[in-house]
Amino acid sequence: MITQKHPSLKPYNTFHIDCRCKKLLIVEDESDFEELFSKRVFCQPFLIIGEGSNMLFTKDFEGTVIKLATKGMEIINEDDDCVYIRVAGGENWSDFVRFTIENKFYGAENLIGIPGLVGSCPVQNIGAYGSEVKDIIYQVEGFYLPDGEPFVFYNEECEFAYRDSIFKKELKDRCLITEVVFKLSKEEHYNLIYKQLKETIEQTGNTVTLELVAKTVQKIRNSKLPDITKVGCAGSFFKNPVVSEAKFAELSAKFDNLVHYPAPGGVKLAAGQLIENCGWKEIRKGDVSVYPTQALVIVNWGNAKGKEVVDYYQQIIKSIQEKYGITIEPEVRIVS
Ligand SMILES: Cc1cc2nc3c(=O)[nH]c(=O)nc-3n(C[C@H](O)[C@H](O)[C@H](O)COP(=O)(O)OP(=O)(O)OC[C@H]3O[C@@H](n4cnc5c(N)ncnc54)[C@H](O)[C@@H]3O)c2cc1C
Repeated sequence: MITQKHPSLKPYNTFHIDCRCKKLLIVEDESDFEELFSKRVFCQPFLIIGEGSNMLFTKDFEGTVIKLATKGMEIINEDDDCVYIRVAGGENWSDFVRFTIENKFYGAENLIGIPGLVGSCPVQNIGAYGSEVKDIIYQVEGFYLPDGEPFVFYNEECEFAYRDSIFKKELKDRCLITEVVFKLSKEEHYNLIYKQLKETIEQTGNTVTLELVAKTVQKIRNSKLPDITKVGCAGSFFKNPVVSEAKFAELSAKFDNLVHYPAPGGVKLAAGQLIENCGWKEIRKGDVSVYPTQALVIVNWGNAKGKEVVDYYQQIIKSIQEKYGITIEPEVRIVS
């Protein structure tokens, strides 16, 4: 296990916020887990991170940050139709997706390019281009905190929902996910429900393959999202709000062309469109603004402080409340 005292967390969060923690522990080997429990690391203030791509540090973290760096992907079972792969929590998510593509296993390809580690993917049930990771997770393994009792959660026990799971609710900061077992199909099939993905693939005139889907997803992502090696951000900053049918009827009588989709519990609106309609594409405060091609993404162009991003996002929430009477919520974890 690598230990750093009082390090800057700037390289460990994609928002590039320059703050510090008391101690950083990088867990490289499974045997390190035992040490974490014997040293009672989880009995003091702690924060588990992956690649820090879904969090915003608002100030220094007065505790220990634990980062997984464990590696390993193993096929543990297979039959004619599907394959079960156990993947260490410290593996990079897109490396795993590439592994599935190279081996012709179907189901993960639409999710290529999402930053982060495998151990974090169940936390907010990552999703993109019509797919969600819940569709390929078989089970999630780890330890309850702080005592270190092992757990296994089967898919249906994870309470997966839109950008949500049990790991973000009851088990937030009460479990360490160490491995995820995925169930992927060996049978050729593609999810082209997302219109832009389908149309872009059709425009190529080529036969659909896993490689083509992944390449197209990556191309669309690159056209909309910032390069996090250059610009700080945490992807979509807000969740898309779901409103009742009655509220939607009221809004559409007042506002034209509201992007909307059917959703459990009502109608889902596009938070990015609401933000854009409130004029935020024109508003930069210091090094903070929304990203020009995607208003749902808040960016740090250089040296923004966490507090400045907080002020900015809270003003966005307020303006949407005033114009539409809807409260949008951050998708990103705000670490205070
Ligand atoms: C440019 C960009 C694009 C993005 N696009 C998408 C997208 O298309 N779809 C999408 O869903 N998300 C997207 N995201 C958000 C982000 O990539 C995902 O939420 C990702 O799963 C976060 O992984 P991470 O390893 O960085 O987790 P972190 O941000 O480090 O942690 C996220 C949360 O999980 C907890 N956690 C992390 N690891 C563990 C563990 N091993 N055990 C228990 N808890 C843990 C943390 O405490 C924290 O609460 C994007 C982010 C960026 C920067």
